[in-house]
Amino acid sequence: MKERECIFCKIAAGEIPSATLHEDDEFRVILDLGPASKGHALILPKEHFRNLYDIDGETAARAMKLAKKMITKMTDVLGCDGYNIVQNNETCAGQTVFHFHIHLIPRYEGDQVGLGWQSGELTEEVKNEILKKMK
Ligand code: 5GP
Ligand code: ZN
Repeated sequence: MKERECIFCKIAAGEIPSATLHEDDEFRVILDLGPASKGHALILPKEHFRNLYDIDGETAARAMKLAKKMITKMTDVLGCDGYNIVQNNETCAGQTVFHFHIHLIPRYEGDQVGLGWQSGELTEEVKNEILKKMK
């Protein structure tokens, strides 16, 4: 399904030009227009899914397989030192474009890319509450 007003549907379909690093029947990988670091890329499925809640498991698995292939090649091409794979779901988690995508963010020793969080503490109470609910 393609959403008429979805910008990533249009980019994935090639209706809007993009800096494409890879394309196959199912995915397009493009450079992010607002990169966190040099070479920041996005994996877009050509089919529209809102996010990870919405996408089927098989497509999600193929997207992650492609992420591995892309970062292996791009580490060579860019000469970066590592990678963050980021995937945001819903507004509270930072999702701004509501078409499933995986961020491939190259990391360079000493870069100032900020993806961190402040570590809290796993209390006994919270741990037990979650473990109980998961049963
Ligand atoms: P999100 O915050 O939804 O996880 O990530 C959306 C990403 O898409 C952002 O990193 C943003 O820079 C990128 N982006 C938004 N619009 C466009 C666009 O039209 N072209 C490209 N190449 N990237 C875009
Ligand atoms: Zn879409």
